[in-house]
Amino acid sequence: MSRIRQQNVLAAQWTPDGASLGTPDLTVADNQIFGENVFSQAVQRQRLPKDVYKRLSQTLAKGEALDTTLADAVALAMKEWALEKGATHYAHVFQPLTGLTAEKHDSFYAPTGEGTALASFSGKELIQAEPDASSFPTGGIRATFEARGYTAWDPTSPAFILENPNGALLCIPTAFVSWTGEALDHKIPLLRSMDALSRSAGRALKLFGKEVGRVFTTVGPEQEYFLIDEQYYFERPDLVTTGRTLFGAKPPKGHELDDHYFGSIPERVLAYMLEAERELARLGIPIKTRHNEVAPAQYEIAPIFENSNVGSDHQQLTMQILQNVARRYGLVCLLHEKPFAGVNGSGKHNNWSMGTDEGENLLDPGDTPHENLQFLFFCTAVIQAVNKHQGLLRASIASAGQDHRLGANEAPPAIISIFLGDELERLFGAIEAGTAGQSTPESFLGLGTPVLPPLPMHGGDRNRTSPFAFTGNKFEFRALGSSMSLGLPNTVLNTIVAEAIDELAGQLQDALDSGATLEDALRPIIQQSYAANKQVVFGGDGYSEEWHEEAARRGLLNLRATPDALPYLVDQHTIGVFEAYGVLNERELHARYDVFLEQYITKLNIEAETAAALARTMLVPAAVRYKAELLAAEEPELASDAGERIASFLEAIRSLESANLKENHPEEDLLEHARYMHDVVFAAMGAVREVADALEKEVADDLWPLPKYSEILFIK
Ligand code: ADP
Ligand code: MG
Repeated sequence: MSRIRQQNVLAAQWTPDGASLGTPDLTVADNQIFGENVFSQAVQRQRLPKDVYKRLSQTLAKGEALDTTLADAVALAMKEWALEKGATHYAHVFQPLTGLTAEKHDSFYAPTGEGTALASFSGKELIQAEPDASSFPTGGIRATFEARGYTAWDPTSPAFILENPNGALLCIPTAFVSWTGEALDHKIPLLRSMDALSRSAGRALKLFGKEVGRVFTTVGPEQEYFLIDEQYYFERPDLVTTGRTLFGAKPPKGHELDDHYFGSIPERVLAYMLEAERELARLGIPIKTRHNEVAPAQYEIAPIFENSNVGSDHQQLTMQILQNVARRYGLVCLLHEKPFAGVNGSGKHNNWSMGTDEGENLLDPGDTPHENLQFLFFCTAVIQAVNKHQGLLRASIASAGQDHRLGANEAPPAIISIFLGDELERLFGAIEAGTAGQSTPESFLGLGTPVLPPLPMHGGDRNRTSPFAFTGNKFEFRALGSSMSLGLPNTVLNTIVAEAIDELAGQLQDALDSGATLEDALRPIIQQSYAANKQVVFGGDGYSEEWHEEAARRGLLNLRATPDALPYLVDQHTIGVFEAYGVLNERELHARYDVFLEQYITKLNIEAETAAALARTMLVPAAVRYKAELLAAEEPELASDAGERIASFLEAIRSLESANLKENHPEEDLLEHARYMHDVVFAAMGAVREVADALEKEVADDLWPLPKYSEILFIK
């Protein structure tokens, strides 16, 4: 069948009826289902003995260590609730350094010995489990002979029920630690960094006359993804094996009509979104927006922000649900950063802020002079932190998938800079200069009117090219990859900002101690910090060539590829701040560095093998058949052109195979190995692809074995 006809058949296969396994009940209002599968505070209040509930919620509110005597009572209530929801198993869910979610299922039921089974679940089982740690990366923290690690219940992230057509599972968010107490996951450092920031911000707030119980960091991630028909997915071994297409010519020009972004959503896709969102709602994940993204077949989903720990767990779950539900609609959800070359990649915008337990957002300028001062203090801390730790921030988002995006002309550049917006940048400029310029919002700090002008929250001219932008009452770290866990980048943000807050608060304390007013004390502190760090502030076009030159002149880092960035994870500034704040020790940082390098190497190795195999066993034969057809049709000139192309294709494939031969890899040193993968193997893949993509445009369509971009991206 010709491909075109096949497409029509495909498109017709989906009907709104019976598309999903569990057809959603469209009569139920969202507010009735929200959180129904969550062992939420409300459920806990209902089901736990009063004193247990009170002690548990006090512990959680203060971020204190858990009294283990509570565990049995909680376990009992949790088990009963889960059984009523149809759960037969429970799982400690954790986030190993692979960035994926891991879980091991255990049955609630144990045989009684009399031919029946009894459901049991103790406090001990709630609090701790022992997965086989040897199968997760530890970067050498744990020698294999003592392959022991355990998962520990995180009571600050609610347990939930994951449903399957054939049963249900109680999921318990946990941390993953080695027996020697080292963090083997992304959750522990995130929790530690939240504590660090809470301590620093709490101390600083005292100088502003505020006593707060706790300061939380908050996160609201905007997730981009592609949706494609699953038949195309299964016809592409590269997508199945590596998550991205290793071959594929750009679709013809006509397809680039700018009609997709915010366009109306196709029916099947919308049906999918509605069901995914419904599931997310039942899991207590507050989804707020959905829309088409820039590229064809690309979409975005964003929740309402939550505290970083819960938000990060919810983000993992969101990615899982997006992928699961897609299959019910004959779709596949691609979370890879760059599934299609020449088409926009997918990222994740990490909206980040700090808020007190009373709900005050510390990055909200507010409307009183006092609130403005406090805002400027925290904003200055962020600028200082980002400038000092540019390399670390860049390292926290490095991965093989990201290498296709960062630095290409669409995603944020690999250079970390901050966009403040005109008003705020001018204000900081005025404070630095000690004057109110003509168009300066005559500010505060004794320079004129008392209150900051309202900063536009949703200016249409918002800078979209900046990797780190102030957007009204939060900073948006835009350089995350679409498949990434939120864990590390938020851990880094929290930790480096905690350090900067402490530095500035120390100076403020000294000035206040010597009798200055808050205003007088603050002005020189902001002035000096801004002057020292403003090199990182940039309001122009981050994609432009001029910015690359300007950034180099300013001395900003431009870490293009993963092997350039990862060493900043173990740089002395990083070790200094992470150890000082008890977030990760040097060994734990080195473990991450090693694991990420290994992952990078492994990923590129798999891609290289897949590319070579696919080229040899699918594309070369297609080209050879095409050549034979040309000969049979007595087209010797065309056949000889095709023959030449095939010869150069084979040569490129051989170079790739040889580049990726184990004996040619410099395996002694991980970083050197990673560099080799990038500079030699990845480059060799590019050379193979170039010929393949040219062949795709020549070889008869009915002989070409891979679905083309023009089909994958435009059939909805
Ligand atoms: P856009 O970036 O398109 O302007 P929104 O302003 O709607 O989008 O917000 C994007 C994301 O930022 C949402 O997930 C939202 O919940 C989140 N967000 C809003 N306020 C905060 C905050 N104080 N802390 C963290 N995230 C926030
Ligand atoms: Mg955004």
